[in-house]
Parts: sequence; structure tokens; C-alpha cells
Amino acid sequence: MRFDAISVIPSVFDSYVSASILGRAKARGIFEFHAHDLRTWTHDRHRTVDDAPFGGGQGMLMKPEPIFEAVEAVSDMAEPRPHVVFFSPCGKPFTQRDAERLAGCERIMFVCGRYEGMDERVYSLADEVISLGDYVLTGGELAAMIVTDAVVRLLPGALGDAQSPVDESFAGSLLEYEQYTRPASYDGMEVPEILLSGDHGAIDRWRRENAIRRTALMRPDLLDGANLSESERRLAQDVIDSREQSEEGC
Ligand code: SAH
Repeated sequence: MRFDAISVIPSVFDSYVSASILGRAKARGIFEFHAHDLRTWTHDRHRTVDDAPFGGGQGMLMKPEPIFEAVEAVSDMAEPRPHVVFFSPCGKPFTQRDAERLAGCERIMFVCGRYEGMDERVYSLADEVISLGDYVLTGGELAAMIVTDAVVRLLPGALGDAQSPVDESFAGSLLEYEQYTRPASYDGMEVPEILLSGDHGAIDRWRRENAIRRTALMRPDLLDGANLSESERRLAQDVIDSREQSEEGC
């Protein structure tokens, strides 16, 4: 799989895609990541990529011409034509389903915004616009890294253990069950007995129930999409009914 990213700070991607699991997957040829400097497609002495918004208002917007030229030129650098992704808080919230869908693309191009965003006309180039969530970042580069990371780990061979992407959070619209490793007892905190029992049937049942409880507690919105039996639905409802309101702070 090939990724292309267009950005005004193309140097920021390299260390992340070259380290750890992504780094190994890249070294093994599972994916390629090519970063391109948007300023390559400017034609003035100052290599200008931004301008003030029509109608007034704060900050600067990315102007359309370099982006149109860059998307065209980078598309032509390889086959096939890329699936073109833009980023914006106004886009579609990114989920694991999107990662799974994008993992089926042969080639993806990210166009990373900066400043106050982009001239609206550039979105005509987009196959999709992705939001990372309801908060505002300084640029689309982190968004491109998050999507790359979530997609690459789904590619065959990227993770050592082929089982891992199947069991984890969101795979069946449930959050992952709690996991523990050694020591079995740490500073008075014990690992649940059943996980030490060696009874794999009982462990599987405990994990399923734990995932349902956790999802009901933390993300009840996910339960609508989950495939639960009658009794599992009742369990989830009991957890929701007894849920205490908790305040979040720093
Ligand atoms: N003024 C814009 C925000 C611009 S932030 C607004 O209010 O909608 C600058 C760039 O950062 C955006 O063009 C986008 O590429 C990126 N960005 C910021 N927040 C993001 C988010 N939640 N999801 C995806 N990309 C985001």
C-alpha cells in the first residue's frame, strides 16, 4: 500500500512511520509513505501557500492553486490514482470501520491543512473529508499519522500476531475486555482469579461479560451496533441503570 501526504511541514512524518511496528512494516515493504512539500507547487518568491479570507476574519487560509497543482502532480507520480483524503473538524468522524475500509485501498493521498483551514473549493478534490474528533488541531499532519497508523496495523503481516486485530476494541462494536500480565498481585491489587484458572471456556465467558460491562459503562452509544443475546442486553441495561455520574477533571 502506498501513502502520499501533502503538507507544508513534510519532515514531521518520518520518525513516526520509521519507528516500531510501522517502521518494521515499512522496512518489510508492507507500505510506503511519501511526504511532499506543498511549497513545491508555489510560483512566487516567498513560496506563499496562504492568504487572508474574503469577508474578513481572523487568520489565514490555504489558497487553492498550490493544492490543486500538488494533488494533480502527486497523483501522477505513481499508479493507481490515489483515494484522496482531506482533514477538517467539519469532516466525518473517523472510526475503526473507516480504518478497515481504507485498508482495502491500494493508494491513499492525505492533504494536510494548516492555519485557519482551506479555501472551500479545494474540497472538490476530496474523495472524503475526515475529522479526528470534536477538537481543533494546529494541522492535518497528526490526523494523517493517526489514519496511517490505524490502517497499517490492519494490513496483513503488519502485526506479528494475526489474531490481535480481531479481538480488540471496536472489532465487534464492543470495547476490549480488561487485560492483565505478571505479577498476579501488585501492591495489594489482584488480577481476577478466573484469568489464573487455566479454564479457557470460563475465561472466554468472563472476557465477553467484561467487554459488555465496560462498553455499557464507558460507551453505551456503541451497544446499538453490537450483536448481543437477550441476556447480554439485560446485563448491559443493568450496568447502565446502576451507572453513577462521574465528574472528569485533570
Ligand atoms: N478553522 C478551522 C480549523 C482549522 S485547523 C475550523 O474551525 O474548522 C487547521 C487544520 O488542522 C485543518 O485544515 C485540518 O487539516 C486540521 N485539523 C484540525 N482539527 C482537526 C480535526 N479535529 N480533525 C481533522 N483535522 C483537523
